[in-house]
Amino acid sequence: MTTTASVNELIQLSVKGGKTDATCGTSLAKGPWEFDKGVAEYGPGASLDDHIPANSPIQAQIPASYREASDEELDARIRAAKETLGDRVVILGHFYQREEIVQYADYLGDSFQLAVAATKHPEAEAIVFCGVHFMAETADVLSSASQSVILPNLAAGCSMADMADTLSVEDCWEQLTEIYGTEPNAEGKVPVIPVTYMNSSAALKSFCGRNGGIVCTSSNAQTVLEWAFERAERVLFFPDQHLGRNTALAMGVPLENMPLWHGRKALGGNDELTLKDAKVILWNGFCSVHKRFNVGQIEKARKDFPGVRVIVHPECPMDVVQAADEYGSTDYIRRAVDGATEPTTFAIGTEINMVQRLAAQYPQHNIFCLDPVICPCSTMYRIHPAYLAWVLEELVKGNVVNQITVAADVQDNAKIALERMLAAKPQ
Ligand code: SF4
Repeated sequence: MTTTASVNELIQLSVKGGKTDATCGTSLAKGPWEFDKGVAEYGPGASLDDHIPANSPIQAQIPASYREASDEELDARIRAAKETLGDRVVILGHFYQREEIVQYADYLGDSFQLAVAATKHPEAEAIVFCGVHFMAETADVLSSASQSVILPNLAAGCSMADMADTLSVEDCWEQLTEIYGTEPNAEGKVPVIPVTYMNSSAALKSFCGRNGGIVCTSSNAQTVLEWAFERAERVLFFPDQHLGRNTALAMGVPLENMPLWHGRKALGGNDELTLKDAKVILWNGFCSVHKRFNVGQIEKARKDFPGVRVIVHPECPMDVVQAADEYGSTDYIRRAVDGATEPTTFAIGTEINMVQRLAAQYPQHNIFCLDPVICPCSTMYRIHPAYLAWVLEELVKGNVVNQITVAADVQDNAKIALERMLAAKPQ
């Protein structure tokens, strides 16, 4: 049966009830400030076992008056601060944010929709981005210079984005350029073009802008790859191997022409011939939330609920995407549920906060997450109403805290790659 409780409520109930294996970490039940200890870490949740780079942003302890406030007090403080600020602030919320945050968002969407929303409010002095670090960087690049972009908790990064660092990608590019050269072929196509998933640092978006490349999201990945193949013989796609592979496979690119590039290995662990035959070179990155989905979960859903509609996100591994009935971006998933005219059972393979929200919004359907373990995105989960209350009340006092600023020398080229992306509409 569909459970419509928020993810936080489910976690609290499971831990209090001693059902420790219902979640991927009992410490998810604690306030995120328990993890603001002056060291860089992803915190509990799906990315806990990933490697966090040493220079990752660290969130300092927020004042006790926020950490110790009740849910009701935080709610009253957020609403009051929002009302005082009026049009001076716009709050953006990603689909994967906890329900307790999403209720305050002026815009709720995927990273593409929120990138567009960031450009729509030149009157706002501040954009508070309830998402993760790379999204706030993108908002800073696309918004006007006088606007401040604020990330309520600096520890809200993305382990997938962290899997491709600028040095490793530049090193890869140098090796590929040595093999392919830079001269266009007879059709005028360059040998290789870089495509970065939105889930990457602004520095890598800038790298793409500088090298004739582009940014994509999960909602426009195919349009972007078509754009790239009109201009190049092949594509270097980073950081998410799964989105790259699933999208290119659907476009007819054979698997044998999609080698995996392991950063810091000579030729990424490939031989020269394989790279010469490549159409899409896939960076070895992944999302730890979407890696949790597997074909066994789909088989179980089909056995338990004959006629179930299985929809997964393209960050899932290829075998899961192939076994599902449909796949698509978070917005695709939302539209698929919204468009179902008859009561339907949906088994969904994406971040659980979004799945629980859909279950609550569409009680006429039976909607559940394919993964039976409650395991939210570690970093999205670091944003709690206590941090939102803190950044908003500081704005009321005239203080901008947790500002995300992209360096001027990165901005211009990152903007070129992002504007190419914005022109490539989702299909
Ligand atoms: S769900 Fe995955 S890709 Fe999205 S922010 Fe979390 S770790 Fe990054």
